[in-house]
Amino acid sequence: MQIYDNVNILINIGGKKISKNRQRAVNQTQVIVFKTINELKNYLNDQKGSGKTLGFVPTMGALHQGHISLIQKSLTQTDITICSIFVNPTQFNNSIDLEKYPRTTAEDMKLLAAANCDVLFIPSVLEMYPNGQIKNTEDYGSITTLFEGEKRPGHFDGVITIVSRFFEIINPNQTFFGQKDYQQCMVVAELINRHFKTIKLCIEPTVRQNDGLAMSSRNSRLNKSELLEALAISKALFYVKENWGSYEINDLLHEARNIIQSAGILKIEYFEICHKITLERLSGHSNQYDDAVVVTAVFCGDVRLIDNLIVYK
Ligand code: AMP
Repeated sequence: MQIYDNVNILINIGGKKISKNRQRAVNQTQVIVFKTINELKNYLNDQKGSGKTLGFVPTMGALHQGHISLIQKSLTQTDITICSIFVNPTQFNNSIDLEKYPRTTAEDMKLLAAANCDVLFIPSVLEMYPNGQIKNTEDYGSITTLFEGEKRPGHFDGVITIVSRFFEIINPNQTFFGQKDYQQCMVVAELINRHFKTIKLCIEPTVRQNDGLAMSSRNSRLNKSELLEALAISKALFYVKENWGSYEINDLLHEARNIIQSAGILKIEYFEICHKITLERLSGHSNQYDDAVVVTAVFCGDVRLIDNLIVYK
């Protein structure tokens, strides 16, 4: 499968199941692929002109069932689902991480076609950053400086920049983000609140493997034993959930961090219990809070994994 510049390609994968609520011809499993902003805009303007609603799912590719769950949700909520694949250089603060980020476009296209996604937008860096890689400079306060913001300086400015650019190009009715990137969801909610009030943000649950590991494009960089060790991350999160309301927060943190640390190769960057909206760290006895979010980033070898869980009484 090839992608051509400036050409729209229809990928046909015949015979796939089509959801009953979709008003589409049987066997029409086609993804229209755009590489340029102008062509995408022309197409979307036509669709909007005929009254269609747009759902947008931004991704960095190396798609898995977590991404597909967002596509599926968008398909049920809007008329046209647009998925973007763009490995955004301005949100990486580590050039090796950017270089090693998995890129599996051919497989991604097959998955999108099988999921009945309508449109794939797969622009180049130059298309998205024609004036150089300039980042957001607006202050978003502590939601961009805590946790991921602290450990990956500038990360959220890159996220804000690229998400704004996509929103301006596509102007969707709804956009779908995964809870897997909890802090990112809070930042996008604030971006929408400030600048894109007409767009509805839908935050969808984290899709996990049966063994509990949150699906992530970065999991493909883990070897067999690392994959096994990484299970301690979700174990620690679920430990907090199961014991919420019964212990002091410090004791919960101590025990949960131990679960992760006792798996030999895992190195915790942070593991914290916070307020669901402000992300302020919580303290005292857990029974004084109805709910909270547990956020964590852990190195498994040289692969950085993030996960989170909402806990409640
Ligand atoms: P990424 O390609 O990692 O930038 O992710 C694109 C979107 O997919 C983001 O909104 C993520 O939060 C979401 N996502 C990634 N992994 C999962 C998962 N396991 N479950 C649900 N959503 C996910």
